[in-house]
Amino acid sequence: MTERPAGNTGRVLRLVHELGPVTRAELTRLTGLNRSTTLAIVGELVELGLVHESEGSATGTTAGAGRATAGAGRASAGAGRASAGAGRASAGVGRPSPVVRASADVVAAAVTVEVDAVTVALVGLDGTVRERAVEPSDAPPSAATAIETIAVLVERLTAGIGPGARLVGIGVAVPGTVHVGDGVVRYAPHLGWHDEPVAGPLADRTGLPVRVTNDANTGAWAERLYGSGRGVDDLVYLNGGASGIGGGVISAGRPLSGADGYAGELGHTFVAANGIRCHCGAVGCLETEASRDALVTAAGVAPDDQAALAAVLAEHRPEVERVVDRQVTALATALRNAIHTVNPEVVVLGGFLGVLLQHVGDRIETEVRAQTMAAMTERLRVLPAGLGDDVLLRGAAETGFRDLLRAPTRPHGRDDAAGEARTA
Ligand SMILES: [Zn+2]
Repeated sequence: MTERPAGNTGRVLRLVHELGPVTRAELTRLTGLNRSTTLAIVGELVELGLVHESEGSATGTTAGAGRATAGAGRASAGAGRASAGAGRASAGVGRPSPVVRASADVVAAAVTVEVDAVTVALVGLDGTVRERAVEPSDAPPSAATAIETIAVLVERLTAGIGPGARLVGIGVAVPGTVHVGDGVVRYAPHLGWHDEPVAGPLADRTGLPVRVTNDANTGAWAERLYGSGRGVDDLVYLNGGASGIGGGVISAGRPLSGADGYAGELGHTFVAANGIRCHCGAVGCLETEASRDALVTAAGVAPDDQAALAAVLAEHRPEVERVVDRQVTALATALRNAIHTVNPEVVVLGGFLGVLLQHVGDRIETEVRAQTMAAMTERLRVLPAGLGDDVLLRGAAETGFRDLLRAPTRPHGRDDAAGEARTA
């Protein structure tokens, strides 16, 4: 089959994209390909404009290898070999191996749709956030309004980054259940969306490939690649935002998707028998018992001002601490259920849940351990999201790059014809 070489090209591009600048010698070692094959693949990726290669001056190589090692070192056993390899490569006395880095001019449009804003960022294949625009709204946008807003912001931002850049796709993160196959948002309760096709109409409107995912699922993946869960194969991510609590699970190094892509809705798992009725119809859901609105109302701060929330929490006011106590208890119960189901190594908390975690320190972990089978938590760490406010955008960018990374040699984006002519 002709898929094999294309698959290797994708593997090499994915490594350069995810690890950052990396020597060609390391790529050879990580992929297990022979040197001439790696040389040919990198050459092809350079011709396609997807990566750049620079001669490894001794310092340049070491810096490149050092960053890659830092990334890989925290990664899996396989990546452990990379650190050893990098060490040998930079310690060697021969010519240093050239450093390969992903192009900042190959960009994906990363989109988050929230009840109070649509945000679009152009993110380079090297991970840099090139441009960003936020369109705030007083009321949750309809799907049609969101699609139009996204299209307008993408046009404006693309015009701003100049003709050298190439937009290869759009990734949209939505707080709701999304059928990942066709990009239909099945139910986004806070937005009020039922069965709204998003990928199709947005692709028609922009002429670009579009993929739509659940926001917390993509946040989990971003934290695994670049954040607090870097290199961790079993991870639970909870995002506390304007649209309640979303969840995402990474199991055995892969996103847990479920039959239709709806898995990981931990915000609607059961935590309180005499709890509040949730908009989903059930009683005692995590997102009603640990709600951002309740916490910011008690603290008297603006809903999306995490710095202000942290500052008020630091005052330890009794009336605020009572809300904190209830939310920590609800969160610990939800995590107990998730941990017994998934056996994660790391739990990552994003949005206001990250602020809550930093306020209460190891209390969440302690409460979780008190009600969880000991073996389940031997290696468990509960950490705030390493990507901070950018976690969902970085995840959406990964979604936007998905097709390119799967098949780098196929044309991608709107200027396919021009791209083919340029690289012919
Ligand atoms: Zn619910």
